[in-house]
Amino acid sequence: MPAMSIVPSTWGGRPVWAEIDLDALAHNVRLLAARASPARLYAVVKANAYGHGAVACGRAALEAGAHGLAVVCVDEAEELRRAGVEAPLLVIGNTPASDAARVVALRLRPAVGAMDLVEALSAEARRRGAEVPIHLELESGLNRHGLPPDALVALAERARALPGLRVEGLFTHFAAAEEGDQRFTRAQFEVLRETSRRLPWVPERHCSASASILLDHEMALEAVRGGLSLYGYRPAPWCGTDADLRPVMSLRARVARVSDVDRGATVGYGRTWAANRPTRVALVMCGYADGYRRSFGNRTQVLVHGRRAPVVGRVAMDMCMVDVTAVPGVAPGDVVTLIGRDGDERVDADDLATIADTISWEILAGISARVPRLYLRGGRAVEASTLVDRAPVAI
Ligand SMILES: *Cc1c(COP(=O)(O)O)cnc(C)c1O
Repeated sequence: MPAMSIVPSTWGGRPVWAEIDLDALAHNVRLLAARASPARLYAVVKANAYGHGAVACGRAALEAGAHGLAVVCVDEAEELRRAGVEAPLLVIGNTPASDAARVVALRLRPAVGAMDLVEALSAEARRRGAEVPIHLELESGLNRHGLPPDALVALAERARALPGLRVEGLFTHFAAAEEGDQRFTRAQFEVLRETSRRLPWVPERHCSASASILLDHEMALEAVRGGLSLYGYRPAPWCGTDADLRPVMSLRARVARVSDVDRGATVGYGRTWAANRPTRVALVMCGYADGYRRSFGNRTQVLVHGRRAPVVGRVAMDMCMVDVTAVPGVAPGDVVTLIGRDGDERVDADDLATIADTISWEILAGISARVPRLYLRGGRAVEASTLVDRAPVAI
């Protein structure tokens, strides 16, 4: 029996939800893959696909042409494997040697920058009669993890000599690729190229994340790791202005209650907002525990009936309040857009990031597990994942 489709407006679950437009995601995947071609695209789905839902987005990205997926830790990879994802999975975080058995059992491709992990992986692979593809991480200026060139070449030769390992990749990560001045990025790229000349037997080199995929095709090499732009955002306003990226997530809620407050009344904790006229206030059950940050209070707007309406008072853990006096006819059950488009108006994660003095990555990844995700295809919700049932199930 085909899965029954619902439109978001008939969603009967929690009255706040994130709509994840899988068609927009597929569009962005194709766009980034074309930019990087002939290099392979690893779709970065760490942090629950930047808040968008790792399993649904991982599947959609692979369907749209991604070669594999990248996550930061073994738990994230296991979530994907359990959901039946068979594609190559890079683990780009600092994997502890104690995770070696899971890495082998789950057929993962870990980033490697330490001898204890190399030895543990080799031992575990031998025990299971398996072969683990590893990606050596070169430290070239970010100074988080990985090894500088000489140490990395030594580690590569050791790993090559050990049974059960196959050195598949050599990679580095840029420190300032989304800054206007590309000189440091260029220098890191040259360190990678020089090191790779010493390891000509390693087949796959990668260094580009979203910014460099959009800015410099030469840096695509054999593979790229695209994250943010898959979800429709630019790493910086000037970055990839010629790319038609489509935002994937909309955050919406229903008006829970409408009340009228008198002139002089205050709304919310700390009494930070007072009505200077009789005011109609809408209650929206989305707060900072959902990822709608406390600092948005009195500083941002939501969309109701295609019009902007200000968030008044402090955002609480579980709810916020909106002044809808200027929007006629607002009633309980009406849809409020906190991120996304309604009619001609839109609020995007970049606007909210500016208000919260952060970056769009943090706004998107911060949308918490309590918010149900509705996955849209052809404008219709076809799957949902919720707190009670985290894996997407057909609905
Ligand atoms: C998160 C991450 C990426 C993706 O970065 P975006 O800027 O979001 O595209 C790529 N590589 C590594 C190592 C990362 O940690």
